[in-house]
Amino acid sequence: MVLDLRDICKSYMQGKEPVPVLHHIQLQVEEGEYLAIMGPSGSGKSTLMNIIGLLDKQTSGDYFFDGQDMAQCSDNQLSTIRNQKIGFVFQNFNLLPRQSVLENVALPLLYAGVRKKERLERAKEMLARVGLEERIQFKPTQLSGGQKQRVAIARAMVSQPRLLLADEPTGALDTRSGEQVMELFAQLHSEGVTIVMITHEPEIARHAQRIVTIRDGMLEQGGFGERRTEQEGDAS
Ligand code: ADP
Ligand code: MG
Repeated sequence: MVLDLRDICKSYMQGKEPVPVLHHIQLQVEEGEYLAIMGPSGSGKSTLMNIIGLLDKQTSGDYFFDGQDMAQCSDNQLSTIRNQKIGFVFQNFNLLPRQSVLENVALPLLYAGVRKKERLERAKEMLARVGLEERIQFKPTQLSGGQKQRVAIARAMVSQPRLLLADEPTGALDTRSGEQVMELFAQLHSEGVTIVMITHEPEIARHAQRIVTIRDGMLEQGGFGERRTEQEGDAS
């Protein structure tokens, strides 16, 4: 099991009042699974992503990552786990504009203390896997949105993380580039990568193996699409 969230609640403080945002979330993700978390704006997706990605802590409940109780870890240990075991992909790519594609992808390995020769070799290999071996000396500004996101995915995967965590990975892309990113996720999934993808788009979520939906901070099994069909069925 890669992720095991048990009875996770999260409140934000507004002045002196705690405002609950996540309610008793139960979520388990097995190694090699490809999960989509759907939900409308304001439902708590980013809050949940920040907890899963060790960028924020739950108010109550237990979070086991890779079998390890995150409550037992110091902040230093948490950032080590975050850097070594989680690959992040964001809607807006977050690439460094002045660095080449190759340098962007090699960067996590620099932080991990890998020597230069190996860094560049591994970054090149990863860029070949995402179909961008011809673009390694380009700057991010010279790439299309879809290509930028493939660079970001190569960067997320270069340290061979236990989990690929993506927040609206197609949110800034046109339909065709979005489909290409989904093809790449399908390829990584077939190679055994564990993926958790957050999206509000049913057309994107349907590429995953399993869909859960978050509404008002509560997790429901099953996606929007299925539910909508039921409601349409009821109405007719
Ligand atoms: P989503 O990503 O699904 O749009 P969020 O997780 O960003 O939802 O937000 C869920 C709820 O939590 C919203 O009502 C939002 O206003 C609130 N919220 C998010 N972040 C904070 C914060 N740092 N402080 C207070 N309230 C927050
Ligand atoms: Mg969000």
